[in-house]
Amino acid sequence: MTAGEAARPRVPAVTVAVACFALGIIAGAFTDQWNASRAIPVATESPAPSATPVASASPTPAASASPVAGVASAAPDATAAAAVTPPLDLTAHSVDDPGSVWVVVNKVRPLDPQDYAPDDLQAVADVPGGATMRADAAAAMTALHAEAVDAGAGFTITTGYRDHDLQASLYDGYVADRGREAADMFSARPGYSEHQTGLAADIQADGCRLEACFADTAAGRFVAAHAWEHGFIVRYPDDERDVTGYIYEPWHLRFVGVELATWMHRAGETTLERVFGLDPAPDYR
Ligand SMILES: [Zn+2]
Repeated sequence: MTAGEAARPRVPAVTVAVACFALGIIAGAFTDQWNASRAIPVATESPAPSATPVASASPTPAASASPVAGVASAAPDATAAAAVTPPLDLTAHSVDDPGSVWVVVNKVRPLDPQDYAPDDLQAVADVPGGATMRADAAAAMTALHAEAVDAGAGFTITTGYRDHDLQASLYDGYVADRGREAADMFSARPGYSEHQTGLAADIQADGCRLEACFADTAAGRFVAAHAWEHGFIVRYPDDERDVTGYIYEPWHLRFVGVELATWMHRAGETTLERVFGLDPAPDYR
């Protein structure tokens, strides 16, 4: 923890800094803001090859085979979302199975089992920093990074997969040092970290590591605009803490597959909770 943080524990900006610092060590927290990122016209600065997302990294089924999204009715803006073309079958993958590319993990939805570990972890190739992720996510991260580098927006990976025991030791250390309430602000409890799925990664660039300033770096702007093309979403958008449980984390990318990421991009949806009609997860129960 930083020395100044104790004096301003409730200030969002400080919370971000705290979360960042903690993540640097723990790598389990999340948070953020999405305004800056969302303000960036996705299409304009896109050197993207085409509107068609990269399909190679996607383990998701063909959109054409999917009927209208039946589950979308649970979402607040189901009408708008349902209008997205192509439609998406939101029941195509489980949101409960920890091995599903669409698994939703948050403060009210722990991994089941809580000591789940992926069986297809692999090193993320050709991306500085070093990390492991599930195979499809790792391949997609390598592709995203290559494109970012070409655009002058390279980044390094701070952390990818973290197992249950590491998360437990880090979280327990924070609780012992600062108390549970404070620890919960910046560190996920073991069994509740998206990093444990092997589908999430924290990235950094330009000296901004696990802080809101990442959104204003070239890399931050690039992933905000293009991560979806490779199947990633910025999992903790700005102003969605009441839904996701975490403040703005422009550096935390979650792989959901190209099909869903593209659909969310087109639908203007930013949280998995709303997409799948799940309960908000502002805090642990
Ligand atoms: Zn993270």
